[in-house]
Amino acid sequence: MEQPIIGYHKDEDDDWVAELQCGHNQHVRHNPPWMLRPWVTTEKGRKSRLGKELNCKKCDRNEPQDFIPRCQE
Ligand SMILES: [Zn+2]
Repeated sequence: MEQPIIGYHKDEDDDWVAELQCGHNQHVRHNPPWMLRPWVTTEKGRKSRLGKELNCKKCDRNEPQDFIPRCQE
């Protein structure tokens, strides 16, 4: 299910994690040559992707939320 990005944090391995509106976390790794997400390495790039949608596989699997999304209004 496509879900917009509402924020980011880093995990214990220093990898970026996108927080989705559905309450799921999703890794957004920049790990060339396999995963190319150079935008995630800069604050500007991350901000530019806020509100953009990622395909959330956890929603498709009906997994419990990783966090409770805060109101964005
Ligand atoms: Zn989800």
